[in-house]
Amino acid sequence: MRIKEKFLPGVVTFDANGNDTGKRYSYSDRRPGAEIDLIILHSIAEYMIVNDTPQEWFAYLANPKHNASYHYVVLPYDDEPVLNIVPVHRRAWHAGISEFRGRRNLNHTSIGMAFVLPVTGYGEFMEAMNKPESFTDEAYKKMAFACRVCMEMYPDITADNITEHRIVSHSGIRDDPKHDPGDGFDMYRLLNEIEGLQAAAI
Ligand SMILES: [Zn+2]
Repeated sequence: MRIKEKFLPGVVTFDANGNDTGKRYSYSDRRPGAEIDLIILHSIAEYMIVNDTPQEWFAYLANPKHNASYHYVVLPYDDEPVLNIVPVHRRAWHAGISEFRGRRNLNHTSIGMAFVLPVTGYGEFMEAMNKPESFTDEAYKKMAFACRVCMEMYPDITADNITEHRIVSHSGIRDDPKHDPGDGFDMYRLLNEIEGLQAAAI
């Protein structure tokens, strides 16, 4: 099991005094002093349809118009490593308007991880999220490994602090039905895999 760095483009911008503003195309700075103690899980489609053309997920996220990114991405294929696409000390843009145990603005304090589902377009993606077979054995193993590595880096991330992504609507209603990785994803299975890794030497 391994992790490979393949960072999204990050473009540095400077303020009038020549100081780095921390703004990047695909990610930005965390709030000063933000303690990382949360992992938020997501799903994305392998290909999105952009202007009637399928566009692979990496190119989609690299486009500054889309304002979306994750720290780690897990592909469903056996021979692919976990990809680290945003440096973990930076703020990836994945949680949006979000809430966890009364805390908001979770991009500052969380690590975003995404399963890539092998589908094209939004309609297929919405269906795939509900199917257990969209989440392969290999994907569970890789996601567990990535979580475990982050738990070693940031000991405040406990198994309790690994959560699915639930969007909090602007009206503040917490039970918005939109969520990912999706109903096909089994959180208990992932936590078991992580626990298995805890027992073994990494
Ligand atoms: Zn999400």
